[in-house]
Amino acid sequence: MIRIENGPWSVMVAHAKRTYPNECCGAMLGTIDGGSKQVREALELENAFDGAQAARYELRPEDLLAADKAARDRGMELIGVYHSHPDCDAYFSTTDLRNSCPWYSFVVLSIQKGEFHHANSWLPNADQTAADKEELVY
Ligand SMILES: [Zn+2]
Repeated sequence: MIRIENGPWSVMVAHAKRTYPNECCGAMLGTIDGGSKQVREALELENAFDGAQAARYELRPEDLLAADKAARDRGMELIGVYHSHPDCDAYFSTTDLRNSCPWYSFVVLSIQKGEFHHANSWLPNADQTAADKEELVY
């Protein structure tokens, strides 16, 4: 399961609302204790998708590497990636699956008419053909 502390959760929701009607994306840093992940910091990253960003996001590999380094510098780990779905449910799309990696949690925030609606966390399988829902607490 993944638990997001109030601080990073506020950052993620504010980022998603500010970016609406486009998708936002960012990194989640924190600690892992057995099967339990604790997100302690959220880092806003730039949506680098070169096209309509209302239904698509893209992370630069170098931004993700920098987030990973930032986490390690602070004694944490890069736990996963978040992004928003403007006026769409918090499902994990085929594109999301294709752009994922199996060792991260992927939190999707559904923003409906500019307001936060609901969120889900997804764990892609090793060959990125399906993603299981992970218990999410925020
Ligand atoms: Zn998506």
